[in-house]
Amino acid sequence: MTPPAVQPTRTARPRARGSAHEVRNGAPTPSSSEPSSYQRLREHLAYLQMTAAAEHLAAELDRALKEKLSATQVLEQLLAIEVAATRERRQRGRLRFARYPVHKTLAEFDLDFQPGIDRKVVAELSTLRFVEERRNVILLGPPGVGKSHLAIALGIAATDAGYRTYFTAASDMVAALQAAHLEGTAAYKLRTYLSPSVLVIDELGYLPLDQASANWIFQVVSRRYEKGSIVLTSNRGFGDWNQVFADPVVASAIIDRLLHSATVLNIRGASYRMRDYVDQQKLKGGSAMVG
Ligand code: ADP
Ligand code: MG
Repeated sequence: MTPPAVQPTRTARPRARGSAHEVRNGAPTPSSSEPSSYQRLREHLAYLQMTAAAEHLAAELDRALKEKLSATQVLEQLLAIEVAATRERRQRGRLRFARYPVHKTLAEFDLDFQPGIDRKVVAELSTLRFVEERRNVILLGPPGVGKSHLAIALGIAATDAGYRTYFTAASDMVAALQAAHLEGTAAYKLRTYLSPSVLVIDELGYLPLDQASANWIFQVVSRRYEKGSIVLTSNRGFGDWNQVFADPVVASAIIDRLLHSATVLNIRGASYRMRDYVDQQKLKGGSAMVG
């Protein structure tokens, strides 16, 4: 004999209307000196520093009444507002921390101006898989071709995606590490360059580096090796790096680790800074022919 099926008993749950009878059009009822649920809720939100949720509380409760939303829907909406605000705040914090000298985006980069750059490579880089796979990006080329622009844009894209990133000129990094070394705080300073997921090192090779400087670059590159990405720009091809670094052994050790897993963009086009000048020259040539 099969036992009779057990009917689930419906326990009467109190309806989620707690806020509804205490809040009219978002305003708490001033009926008693006891703090209302609404006031306590506001206090909780303030204590938890959920400012965005606190700001939207009245309006969201109002909306809940009008649209007959469930408690779950109201809570979800309120937390979604707080999550969005927190995400934005953290993003701004990461950007401040990263110290980009200017704000550049991949969208602002005119690929038509630089037809030598393989669009597929830029598209692949913009997926940020290189960050996930801890690969490096090396941007080489003469001044003005957009190396720093692309490096900063990749760094900012990674920052927007939630990665910690940091920008430094190569010479600033070397100077900071050297100064920290003299103060006995090099190990601590190194963390600035080792802990972010992406380290953008701009302008390596503009000035020749002495032995100590080359060693600092080697420290950073070798210790980030397969742990985090480096996006590096240089106006010197790898063939010239022996002249950049005082010690050719250190130079080849740095190149070896940088290139082990890297995307290299060799930009050979014209300087973007000079484009107006070039346009003017063309215009002058054109009018000369007309005249
Ligand atoms: P590099 O680092 O190679 O010397 P930059 O990245 O500093 O060159 O570029 C110089 C200026 O020209 C920057 O303001 C940059 O935003 C702009 N620029 C360079 N190339 C492009 C491009 N293809 N599209 C849009 N802006 C560019
Ligand atoms: Mg540059």
